[in-house]
Amino acid sequence: MLCKKYSGFFGGIHPADGSDKELSLQSPIVSVTPDVVEISSEQSTGSICHFKPVIGDKVTLGDLIGIPKNFTAVNLHASISGTVTDIKTYEYPRTGAQVTFLRIEGNGRAAVKTNQEYRFKLMDISHLSREILLNKMKEGGLTGMGGAGFPTHIKYETKQPIDMVLINAAECEPYLTCDHRLMLEYGMELINGINLLIKAAGAQKAILCLEDNKKDAGLYLENLISGLNVPISIKLLPTRYPQGGERQLIQAVTNTMVPIGGLPADIGIIVNNVATAKAMADLVFGDTPLIARCVTVTGKVKNPGNYYVPLGTSYSSLLHLAGGITTLNNKVILGGPMTGNCVGIDVTEADVYGSVTKTSSAIIVLENSSLTETPCIRCGACVRICPAGIHPFKIDNAYLREDLSICEKLFATECIGCGSCSYVCPAKRELARRNISARNEVKKIRRERQVK
Ligand code: SF4
Ligand code: SF4
Repeated sequence: MLCKKYSGFFGGIHPADGSDKELSLQSPIVSVTPDVVEISSEQSTGSICHFKPVIGDKVTLGDLIGIPKNFTAVNLHASISGTVTDIKTYEYPRTGAQVTFLRIEGNGRAAVKTNQEYRFKLMDISHLSREILLNKMKEGGLTGMGGAGFPTHIKYETKQPIDMVLINAAECEPYLTCDHRLMLEYGMELINGINLLIKAAGAQKAILCLEDNKKDAGLYLENLISGLNVPISIKLLPTRYPQGGERQLIQAVTNTMVPIGGLPADIGIIVNNVATAKAMADLVFGDTPLIARCVTVTGKVKNPGNYYVPLGTSYSSLLHLAGGITTLNNKVILGGPMTGNCVGIDVTEADVYGSVTKTSSAIIVLENSSLTETPCIRCGACVRICPAGIHPFKIDNAYLREDLSICEKLFATECIGCGSCSYVCPAKRELARRNISARNEVKKIRRERQVK
């Protein structure tokens, strides 16, 4: 029986009716290997690698090509075999960020993997120590694949005793279906991966948490687990956004809150995305570092679907694969519609810039609609739904007055960037954008204070 006990989290919304997910949900994952990849040196915001190869070097799938430049970056590996034909720095059109890409032209040879057992049966992990697993995570460049892209080995190197691992399969944003499909199609890899994460954490158990709009995946995985001796259970949660936020998930499942300024490890929990669990199994049993991922391509495209592709696959080629953009009055978003970044307005697929990284969950094309902000009417809706328990309209007000000390006093640093406040605001105020900016600027000031 799927466990339904639910304690809930503070705030939250129902941003859509589910028909958005239906667009790509019935499309099985298609594996595609492009002839060319352009791998970004920045695999998640601010996590930058220095490229090892130079133009003309031959690389083989899985070769180490990027060395972390900072604390939040991890090793980066060649996602196809071939020749490095270019290393270029571009300015991202909408953000202005400078990002370096390494281009590999493929030699057309697919990698042959001999050990595929972990796709069909539960693997013995008794010979693998926690140290070995942490080292493999680090060497293999494992990161959280749900959005933030934090290095997995750093989470697991905690000195805090860990009781349980929560596997985040909530996939609570509209349109996204890549995690749902992963659960339906890669069940045994996931279970093997979760088993490894339990051992790496030194934990007693794992709970795989998913929303009740993915009941089929929950039942399928529960059936798979029932015949195995693994300390994994499945928890079905009511569909509600932003349940997939780390703190919200912990609150919903355990009725415990992570203290302000603290980490889940402080209360004995590590949270990992379900795709990271699969990548862990690939790493340990498939001897493959994190070089590919599943991406949902959906919205206003001809054939919405889910694609398993090497890192560096261009967004424009993915949009082509999905049959192309079907309306010129569009807005192209990388990631979910609530938290993703808009990378193009009124564009064709050829104009969409950039390539798949370890955190690219989706490319979504929406109808473009321009909204005009009007003054706040003090309705309080943004306060009632804010899952961080802060006052978005007050922080917005202080930020517009450029008063960051008030933003700090109003706990702007607690904003999780979920976008719920903008979604409910009847005055169409850009609350989320400015609350996120306030959060980032206050955090920067705090860091500078610590350095002095
Ligand atoms: S203030 Fe931040 S956490 Fe609160 S609803 Fe807005 S975006 Fe979400
Ligand atoms: S939801 Fe909009 S109008 Fe209502 S209090 Fe918040 S900012 Fe003001």
